[in-house]
Amino acid sequence: MNNRILVVEDDVAIANLIKMTLTMQNYDYEIASDGKTALQRVLSMQPAVIILDLGLPDMDGIDVIHKVRSWSQTPIIVVSARGEDTDKINALDAGADDYVTKPFSVDELLARIRVAFRRISSDRNLEKEQPVFENGDLRIDYLANTVFVRGQEIHLTPIEYKLLVVLSKHVGKVLTHNFLLKEVWEQVSQSDVPSLRVFMATLRKKIEVSPADPKYIQTHVRVGYRMLRY
Ligand code: CA
Repeated sequence: MNNRILVVEDDVAIANLIKMTLTMQNYDYEIASDGKTALQRVLSMQPAVIILDLGLPDMDGIDVIHKVRSWSQTPIIVVSARGEDTDKINALDAGADDYVTKPFSVDELLARIRVAFRRISSDRNLEKEQPVFENGDLRIDYLANTVFVRGQEIHLTPIEYKLLVVLSKHVGKVLTHNFLLKEVWEQVSQSDVPSLRVFMATLRKKIEVSPADPKYIQTHVRVGYRMLRY
């Protein structure tokens, strides 16, 4: 796996901060300061990870995501200055994997990059469409529809099971409420978000050692949920 990162950022100060951070961590990187250059670089440098500012001078970052996703599954971490949840949600629904909100700390950005690289290696392992998913102490047998935590079989309701399967199939990626509602209930209505929360709470009680401090399923307030890869 290469360690090349494409940074798409038109703000020179932020681009410099990211450059310094990546240099210290020995990542290879290139900077693109507009959307058109970014799309060319994705083709020419074949980055392992893309860090993408949403507010670009020539095009909307969301359009960059749509274009990249038409041919590539490279993880995209969105950098959003707008602080608006709808921007993050639109970016995630367009196919971004994760986001950081400006101002962000260097540690936060590096943590997100590590998660993205972990997802790439887990995708490699899933290339053969494994019938069994293993993540830390969690094991899902997709063929038998059974779930084990620390070797013990866990009994889930059909909705809890579906929810867990969707999260596991996209391990490492932040999934929006809308995405989960569509996948699990096949319909989307914001009024369903509270019931999603209820099912998530009962699922966590069954799979997490400490549901208040979840290890597997992370909450992204007002945005969605993500299963972390171990
Ligand atoms: Ca910008």
